[in-house]
Amino acid sequence: MRLILLGAPGAGKGTQAEILSRELGIPTISTGNILRAAMKAGTPVGIQAKSYVEAGKLVPDDVIIGIIQERLAQEDCKEGYILDGVPRTIPQAETMEAMGVQIDCALSIEVEDQVIVERMAGRRTCKDCSQTFHVVNNPPKTEDVCDFCGGELTIRKDDAPETVKARLEVYHRDTEPLKQFYAQRGKLKTVDNQSSIEATTAEIRKALGI
Ligand code: AMP
Repeated sequence: MRLILLGAPGAGKGTQAEILSRELGIPTISTGNILRAAMKAGTPVGIQAKSYVEAGKLVPDDVIIGIIQERLAQEDCKEGYILDGVPRTIPQAETMEAMGVQIDCALSIEVEDQVIVERMAGRRTCKDCSQTFHVVNNPPKTEDVCDFCGGELTIRKDDAPETVKARLEVYHRDTEPLKQFYAQRGKLKTVDNQSSIEATTAEIRKALGI
């Protein structure tokens, strides 16, 4: 299964990607997580990406293509992968297509902007392993502590309400056209966000026939 997860920031792509990744035994590739790790480590890519990420803007396509090229060449991607947050622009999708990146399905999780804004306000992210939680919908067992690695849960800088607004604008302008791109190739499936993580996973399973 080679899957792209599409959807606005906070639509639940990361959460669903992790669930599917465990079930299907294939890796999730999140360019957001890769960029945050690079920023934390202070690598050249991280230094280049920092100002874009923190302002809620898209990192230049060539940086993203470099990351994805390197990651997809790794052994664990041979049996499939879940792309979370990439491609995010038509040029990224075209370049990946030209590179021969195979896709079985682009699955879009549809969520209204208002729900996104409310949801992002409660999102907490582990500063060590990037796992995400939500104070109401998906709380950690211990407040502000990651269930998986014990790391501290923090609010991502780009989850601040004004940055979320900017990210939603970028999503509608630059990323949403990808739905048409993949629909034209017969690859698009959409699911509506449900009231719980489990119910959304069930809809995704139905859409993918798994
Ligand atoms: P995410 O964790 O997917 O919400 O990504 C966080 C931020 O990383 C985005 O707001 C962008 O600044 C940057 N980013 C992640 N993936 C991409 C991508 N495919 N293209 C451009 N920027 C990206």
